[in-house]
Amino acid sequence: MGTFPVNKIREDFPILHQKVYNRPLVYFDNAASTQKPVQVIRAISGYYETDNCNIHRGVHFLSQRATEAYEETRKVVQRFINAASSSEIIFTKGTTESINLVASSFGKQYISPGDEVLISIMEHHSNIVPWQQMCLDRGAKVKFIPIHENGELDMEAFRKMVNEKTKLVAITHVSNVLGTINPVKEIIAYAHTYGIPVLVDGAQSIPHLGADMHDLDCDFYCFSGHKMYAPMGIGVLYGKEKFLETLPPYQSGGEMIKEVHTDRTTFNELPFKFEAGTPNVEGVYGLHAAILYLQNLGLDNIRNYENEILKYATDKLTAMGDIRIIGTAKEKTSLISFLIGTIHPYDAGVIIDKMGIAVRTGHHCAMPLIEWYKIPATVRASFAFYNTVEEIDSLVEAIIRVKQMFG
Ligand code: PLP
Repeated sequence: MGTFPVNKIREDFPILHQKVYNRPLVYFDNAASTQKPVQVIRAISGYYETDNCNIHRGVHFLSQRATEAYEETRKVVQRFINAASSSEIIFTKGTTESINLVASSFGKQYISPGDEVLISIMEHHSNIVPWQQMCLDRGAKVKFIPIHENGELDMEAFRKMVNEKTKLVAITHVSNVLGTINPVKEIIAYAHTYGIPVLVDGAQSIPHLGADMHDLDCDFYCFSGHKMYAPMGIGVLYGKEKFLETLPPYQSGGEMIKEVHTDRTTFNELPFKFEAGTPNVEGVYGLHAAILYLQNLGLDNIRNYENEILKYATDKLTAMGDIRIIGTAKEKTSLISFLIGTIHPYDAGVIIDKMGIAVRTGHHCAMPLIEWYKIPATVRASFAFYNTVEEIDSLVEAIIRVKQMFG
């Protein structure tokens, strides 16, 4: 496939070189979590070997070195997503925590009874439930933008749903079930003409497309390290300074304060106001290494290769005849959700697993979307730049086996 050095790249991922059930492991569950290159693994062990220490509060050497590395990563993230300032970068546990932070703090500050938050029917539960909970508390309402059968957002419906009650739009850039790349730039521009801020869930887009805050002009953007080759338990909330300054803290405790007295507390400046407690320092070291790794490969090279993989897999599965692909949008990332005839996805998943192939089956934390399609679940194969066409051929073989057993 082209000139992309996939075999060389695979050498960086030790976990891929093992057998499961006596067959070479094929890892197609990248939308759930990606594997980590040795560069990331070494960054984490290096942190514990030489730098381990609590940050920000110490005057001693180790604390200063770890603090510098932590704050340097904030700048690395800022440049990676082209944010205006590093104080707009808040380290969180991941996308879920980032969205909860905004739902809680934005809700308290800006949402009143009767207000509406617009999300889409293709959202992950983590971009649904925090809004539902917040709206329950505030007497507001969550409204769902519908989609077309091919998995593209119904933009006409979206435009009609925006009204004077709309206080926020929260939308995923890429669907974790359909692979659809939503026209978020258009959505943001439209919402902004009415002065409505937009939160983008970038969990599934950043590993494939990168992100550019200046270009998108979104007000909040959330992502998880573990879906972009970094460790679990680290993620980012980007927020425009003008919003973050006005929002109340999400959690309170150490780090997020300026002064604490028995009768009052004042809060720290951005971004520390939103980083209460000891942070995930090893995660930040790993995130730094993962970003360098992606930049070194080149996001354009990644995108081109993953597009080739997606096309190869789509052509192969389509040629099988009785495969129904859920999500056939024109603009997709490298992910295919499908059904094999009338075979239940769980049955299919068990057989595919026994052939050494890790796919995901279920509702993929997007139950409203699965209900919308009136299907029980899907099988999802999600590809990363370390996957190969030979691995896709193995998936085709596994599907043939599933059909032999259940067809
Ligand atoms: N949003 C989308 C689109 C996702 O796919 C996921 C995870 O699958 C999340 C949010 C939640 O991410 P995390 O569990 O890392 O917080």
